[in-house]
Amino acid sequence: MKRIALFPGSFDPFTKGHEDIVLRGLSLFDEIIVAIGYNSSKSQRYFPIAFMVEKIEETFANYPNISVKTFSELTAEFAKKNKAKYLLRGLRNTTDFEYENSIAQVNRNLNNELESVFLITSPLFASINSSIIREVHRYQGDVSSMIPYKL
Ligand code: ADP
Repeated sequence: MKRIALFPGSFDPFTKGHEDIVLRGLSLFDEIIVAIGYNSSKSQRYFPIAFMVEKIEETFANYPNISVKTFSELTAEFAKKNKAKYLLRGLRNTTDFEYENSIAQVNRNLNNELESVFLITSPLFASINSSIIREVHRYQGDVSSMIPYKL
């Protein structure tokens, strides 16, 4: 049985922190699906979804076992449809932990075959945060050191 993990998130935008979690996840899973969720509470995106799909695909062009999909349903349902038994998530700090802890409980209740797996951020990427990138980009600042592709 192939170990398939879903890496769900808003990825608005996808950052070097996210890239690091996916690449490290490859030592645990046979296949990783980067799943861009939309229509959540953060429904207004800054970077259009189709643009982000293209950029993430470009980032992992050399990895046949990493794919990119979009979804607008329960993460637990989308995981089931894709035969993913694992949810991959990253943890930067205690704020992430509090949030991740509650969504992991909910996801497990919704789909009891689903295990959430957490990787602790690499120190180099710990301060990288999508909302800061959006702010810097909005005012024409240079975000190239925080994202793994060219805008
Ligand atoms: P969400 O809206 O679901 O929080 P994000 O796109 O912000 O989605 O993040 C997706 C996942 O990546 C989350 O588990 C988040 O904690 C993790 N993550 C975000 N930034 C980093 C980073 N710099 N290092 C490690 N993990 C990160």
